[in-house]
Amino acid sequence: MPGEFELIARYFTRPVPKAVLGVGDDCALLQTAPGMQLAISTDMLVAGRHFFADVDPFLLGHKCLAVNLSDLAACGARPLAFSLALALPLPQAEDAWLEPFAKGLFALADAHECELIGGDTTRGPLTICITVYGEVPADKAALPVPTQALLRSGAQAGDDVYVSGSLGDAALALLALQGRLTLPLDLLHAARERLEQPAPRVALGLALRGIASACADISDGLLGDLGHILARSHCGARVEVDQALPLLAARQVYAGGSAQFDSDMGARTALQCVLAGGDDYELVFTAPTAQRSALAALSSSLQLPLTRIATIEAAPGLRLVDATGQAVAQDFASFDHFAAALVLP
Ligand code: ADP
Ligand code: MG
Repeated sequence: MPGEFELIARYFTRPVPKAVLGVGDDCALLQTAPGMQLAISTDMLVAGRHFFADVDPFLLGHKCLAVNLSDLAACGARPLAFSLALALPLPQAEDAWLEPFAKGLFALADAHECELIGGDTTRGPLTICITVYGEVPADKAALPVPTQALLRSGAQAGDDVYVSGSLGDAALALLALQGRLTLPLDLLHAARERLEQPAPRVALGLALRGIASACADISDGLLGDLGHILARSHCGARVEVDQALPLLAARQVYAGGSAQFDSDMGARTALQCVLAGGDDYELVFTAPTAQRSALAALSSSLQLPLTRIATIEAAPGLRLVDATGQAVAQDFASFDHFAAALVLP
């Protein structure tokens, strides 16, 4: 088993071309380019809370950076660097765990040219806390915050609401891994990949600067994260549930493509996974209707579906309607660590 400093040197010290100073001193140093601002975000993952303690360490290394990069994506920031605070119990302080963990972490870091510049390492219950630093152009004329970053606060009545990619599969995989429903093997495999190896939508976030009026990443469930946009933007939304439901990539389980579900999965479970599932790390964003053609072009250039699911309205609150405009009753809570657990059928 490596000692603390040997562990840091062996697994977490690499050249850092973008940083002025990386691992090894009391502080790391980062230089922002003229006219740019730092975008900073922290996410902590705790064993037993955010992941199974025996999850493949390669996938865990990927995921703990992915969830942080997703926050940069939501702000339209370009990743620069990250720091890594690790609490490791004895089994994880072994080479057999650290090596694949570092591999998974650096594979994603390299894909986004995001450098590890420092951190902290201690013995303790398995916890991984990452802080990411990204850059975004300042905009002195922008009000009320002088930035080109995408914020939660810019949605306006009349804007369209979009979701990238698909939703609900991570939650579906979690239910399956907990033995609460069974999925056909190919479906389980695909859903599990969404849960364990989410792809942060960094390219989309960058491209949405100047197009989206507000943006958030979907870590806690669509309704909850859209709710954050509505709260910060002081407005409401009318969500067309029939537009949202096909976002479930596992929709193959619909019999014949209609809202008839495989006997293993009730319609309510599917709806809950899409609307309140979380852990998918897609982006939910708003844009003026004048941006529809720009967004269609962006969707095809990124080869990523961008689905219009709702309209922003002046009246606060979330209104869910079906295809005929009838209100859909819903009591789906998004994830809250200190609230009651999700209601599952
Ligand atoms: P300090 O005594 O100031 O807390 P440490 O001795 O803990 O610093 O860390 C030594 C160096 O190693 C620092 O530059 C720190 O940023 C870096 N470091 C510690 N843990 C990690 C880690 N898990 N990943 C990357 N760098 C780390
Ligand atoms: Mg320290």
